[in-house]
Amino acid sequence: MTAVETSTAVRALDTLARELAERHPEIEVWPASTETIRYGHDAGTAPRASALDRDATPDGDTSGPAVAFPTSVEQVQALVRAAADLGVTVVPRGAGSGLSGGATAHGHQLVVSVERLDCITEVSPLDEVAVVEPGVINAALNEHLAPYGLFYAPDPASWEISTIGGNIATNAGGLRCAKYGVTRESILALDVVLADGSLITVGHRSIKGVTGLDLTSLFVGSEGVLGIVVGATVRLRPIPVARKTLTAFFDSTEAGTNGLGAITLSSVRPSSIEFFDTTTLAGIDEHSGSDLRERGASLILIEIDGYGIDEQAADLVAALTRAGGRARVETDADAVRLWEPAATRPGLPRVSLVHR
Ligand SMILES: Cc1cc2nc3c(=O)[nH]c(=O)nc-3n(C[C@H](O)[C@H](O)[C@H](O)COP(=O)(O)OP(=O)(O)OC[C@H]3O[C@@H](n4cnc5c(N)ncnc54)[C@H](O)[C@@H]3O)c2cc1C
Repeated sequence: MTAVETSTAVRALDTLARELAERHPEIEVWPASTETIRYGHDAGTAPRASALDRDATPDGDTSGPAVAFPTSVEQVQALVRAAADLGVTVVPRGAGSGLSGGATAHGHQLVVSVERLDCITEVSPLDEVAVVEPGVINAALNEHLAPYGLFYAPDPASWEISTIGGNIATNAGGLRCAKYGVTRESILALDVVLADGSLITVGHRSIKGVTGLDLTSLFVGSEGVLGIVVGATVRLRPIPVARKTLTAFFDSTEAGTNGLGAITLSSVRPSSIEFFDTTTLAGIDEHSGSDLRERGASLILIEIDGYGIDEQAADLVAALTRAGGRARVETDADAVRLWEPAATRPGLPRVSLVHR
């Protein structure tokens, strides 16, 4: 943007803030100021911003964006319509934990934060779905679902802080994606406010809903550029009846990759797999005082779940042993220590890195 364009855009944002205060006093809007700078960057751009200047956005703006905190779908629509009328660009925002700069905004833009749209509207065990607002935190949803014996599978490592809307907009993946898929596989339907303020619903409530174009997939992973997600129907799954953790140590990183192939060729589908090469194992030992390098030069850490857990474990240990690994089933206590993000699994406490 040229300096003239920027100053025109800043004036438009000032006008928007004034008009919103007059016409929609029910919507909390923070005008652009140094106070809003933290809403101008996400977890990806914040470190760069603080390296430049603690009081500047990533691109050196001395003012943050204007920030609106709608509490209803109608308020989101009103905000988007008013911004469109004045040519102000809008940046949707969840928790700002993104690492790709998607939720960054400049001093002439309006951030629409969905953090106050945080209701879990419905849980239907019979349909295996929940209907949620976009600002619901991933961990809060799973906490809410646990008494129903159900869980929402996508588990980015930011599960404790990131929103379902942000997870949808980034198509977030996590450790469980090998078996349960990324966010895309758990989103059945979406309510979206488009750039003109209109509200559309795409998708189906049922898992077998196949009629029409698959517009839900178009919105999942679109980083907010196609509209603001204001509601989501998400797929739920039964909390597995059992879980076990297996380790397989190998004599080199290359040998460990053969182990990964052996898992794929087996008939077992682990719920989580992590591969640690020699450098990483050494780093963990140095950081946490563990002795993983004494057990091998690479490690495959595996979680299996579901029925027939002992048969799954025996088949996997046999496959990994044939591939040259030293494989074993870990005790439940060691399993908790081995999985850093263990609390992504409902019912397990949060723990830190490996100690043996
Ligand atoms: C410690 C840490 C670990 C992480 N681990 C993972 C991981 O394992 N896997 C992974 O995929 N990512 C990971 N991330 C990245 C990030 O947490 C995820 O991308 C997360 O999904 C972002 O959610 P958020 O609510 O913070 O969204 P934000 O950062 O606020 O926004 C992300 C993007 O989504 C858009 N957006 C937000 N809400 C909406 C909405 N309601 N409608 C439309 N667009 C919207 C924003 O404009 C932006 O483009 C990690 C981040 C951190 C800090």
